[in-house]
Amino acid sequence: MKTNLLGYPRIGEKRELKKANENFWAGKINEEELTKVANEIRLHNWKIQKEANLDLIPSNDFSLYDHVLDFSFSINAIPERFKPIKHLSDLELYFALARGYQKNGIDITAQEMTKWFDTNYHYIVPEFTKNQVFELKSNKALHEFNFAKENGFKTKPVLLGLVTYLLLGKEKEEGFDKLDLADNLLIVYKQILSELAESGAEYIQIDEPFLALDIDEKTKNVYQKVYTDLAESFPELKFIITTYFDSVEQNLDLVKSLPFNTLHVDLVRSPEQLDAILADYPKDKILSLGIVDGRNIWKNNFENSLVLIQKVVEKLGRERVWVSSSCSLLHSPCNLELEKNEKVLPKEIKQWLAFAKQKLTEISTLKSIANGESSSEINLARQENQQAAENRKSSELIHKTAVKERVANIQEKDDQRNSPFSIRQEIQHKALNLPLFPTTTIGSFPQTQEVRNWRAAHRGGKLSTAEYEDLLKKEIQESIEFQEEAGIDVLVHGEFERNDMVEYFGEQLSGFVFTKFGWVQSYGSRCVKPPIIFGDVHRPKPMTVRWSEYAQSLSQLPVKGMLTGPVTILQWSFVRDDQPRSLTCTQIALAIRDEVKDLEKAGIKVIQIDEPAVREGLPLKKENWADYLNWAIKAFRISASGVEDSTQIHTHMCYSEFNDMIAAIADMDADVITIECSRSQMELLDVFADFKYPNEIGPGVYDIHSPRVPSKDEMIHLIKKAEAVIPKEQLWVNPDCGLKTRHWQETKAALVAMVGAAKELRKEFADA
Ligand code: GLN
Ligand code: ZN
Repeated sequence: MKTNLLGYPRIGEKRELKKANENFWAGKINEEELTKVANEIRLHNWKIQKEANLDLIPSNDFSLYDHVLDFSFSINAIPERFKPIKHLSDLELYFALARGYQKNGIDITAQEMTKWFDTNYHYIVPEFTKNQVFELKSNKALHEFNFAKENGFKTKPVLLGLVTYLLLGKEKEEGFDKLDLADNLLIVYKQILSELAESGAEYIQIDEPFLALDIDEKTKNVYQKVYTDLAESFPELKFIITTYFDSVEQNLDLVKSLPFNTLHVDLVRSPEQLDAILADYPKDKILSLGIVDGRNIWKNNFENSLVLIQKVVEKLGRERVWVSSSCSLLHSPCNLELEKNEKVLPKEIKQWLAFAKQKLTEISTLKSIANGESSSEINLARQENQQAAENRKSSELIHKTAVKERVANIQEKDDQRNSPFSIRQEIQHKALNLPLFPTTTIGSFPQTQEVRNWRAAHRGGKLSTAEYEDLLKKEIQESIEFQEEAGIDVLVHGEFERNDMVEYFGEQLSGFVFTKFGWVQSYGSRCVKPPIIFGDVHRPKPMTVRWSEYAQSLSQLPVKGMLTGPVTILQWSFVRDDQPRSLTCTQIALAIRDEVKDLEKAGIKVIQIDEPAVREGLPLKKENWADYLNWAIKAFRISASGVEDSTQIHTHMCYSEFNDMIAAIADMDADVITIECSRSQMELLDVFADFKYPNEIGPGVYDIHSPRVPSKDEMIHLIKKAEAVIPKEQLWVNPDCGLKTRHWQETKAALVAMVGAAKELRKEFADA
């Protein structure tokens, strides 16, 4: 039996890589200094893996920015438009691919970035052209392997699978299929492998997560061809084909037929695939069991894992079974030991958790126990593990009878508004008395340095709560005054009191905790620190009512209440694994429902429940979509349906394409949806039009992601395009997302122009 790790976080325990990268970009440190930090992280990671007794330690899992970009760079898959900067140093060129290049009159846009499967990690999308040839530019896998070797670590190089790499990319011209590039890519791929073999590599980990997704016959054929070729070409190398995030069950014939040494499967996400895999598993092959969760922060339950390992050992024999993380630990925070503040993370909760470093020990302890080894240390670890599991099962911190009963008693009518939309619409129009093309914004206004300084000072005790709140009130007042002056119809308070749209609610709901160093890479140097949902969720007291009430008291116009929806809160947190996600989501939905009702009681007539992350939650396989959408949409409806017909519920979505889930969006039955689409030139509108989306809709008329101030005419043009396909009575006018990352100057100019556009169109349509 061996222990096998798929990958380790690369950001550094205290985000050293983020800081070094940003300093390098700002010209504060040079290439050598950045490389030094990177190498320190590499060495640190290998050292602790070795200390934890891991047998198969990965190399080339480290990356300065992104491992997909690393591979593109290695094989010189660099888009044409970067030609003018080919003379830059490798490192500068590499970062330019990820971040774009604007200097010396040269302006090159960055390569696109998108989500890595269903995680919150983003990779740089490879760009392909017809008949593209690849060449070995620099063998990063080899360099890292050798660097590890020089420092006394024997490692297993990790390579992105050839087929997965192609499937992750995008064809940048018509008339070919990216899979047709497999032959060209295979040439370079073999060069990489032969250099590794020459340098003494034994095992090679090849990541092929697409083997766990829906793939067609052509893809299967390419898989067959590529891996047959690689196995024949490199009889001396032992290939570990890794799959994760879903089950390989429906591709099992293909998977079992590929000529690899070891197959890795994710048994955290898909434990049910095991039986099918074990049924006539090829006699010459090893199975790597992904049983320590790489994507969540919960301690492994040893007793459960041991049952599973035992079962496989009985079938395959000890020598053909490896113990592993479910996927790369890239998606886990680094080290729980750093969480020393019990006020932030109470001891009782901390004992239920394991971050990346702790997971290493879990993997090797599981192997030791499964191997029948016994020492006082192992026995103690096993005992502690069991105690933590038992404590978690019954802890009063987690289990709240009232919450469970409330969920159990949800009635059919709880996810239905009193009347259908057409009736509500009439009532709301009378109550709100809004003009044609009503204008609004998405919620946040600029979070200036000043506002962030106040919050920091308040947190640090340098600003009293009263002082802090006075400053916020002044900020709200100014924002309301500006919106009235600008002529906006439905106002917002500006969200100045919020650090982050999920954290702000998590901090006020029970069932959540936070960490100090629980960072996970999102993209490049950007990291996120998701809240941990450990227990039954409820709302001890109103969360936003005071601020909304205050803002509403300053204006005769409606001021929108502003909430984050249950699906988004769930999606952007570490979620408990001791009950279905749908149940946790429903608990959050009830808490938000309470808040919605309290806002209504306080006289708020328009309430927005943001759900930017709804699409992100979609399962990887289409066959599982309906089930997810079913509970996710229901959760939203539960949160939104406790109010009178006259209260107008808005929702907001962004970051993704919604074309393939329009029916589900309609099912949410929000009175108004504001949605990002200025960048795709309103393409999305066609979908809404074809579907005959029944409720009101505010397609974003300008892109808030850039400081550029759009002209009034531009926006008129876009609104007219919208009006051509969606009845004008249904249309709202608004930016495409919140304005918190913008400066006031451009925000004001853009909103004034936006209101100007709406006014001009009202006139035009009234005259017509
Ligand atoms: N109301 C939020 C804001 O305006 C919405 C943010 C988002 O869509 N991500 O900031
Ligand atoms: Zn948004």
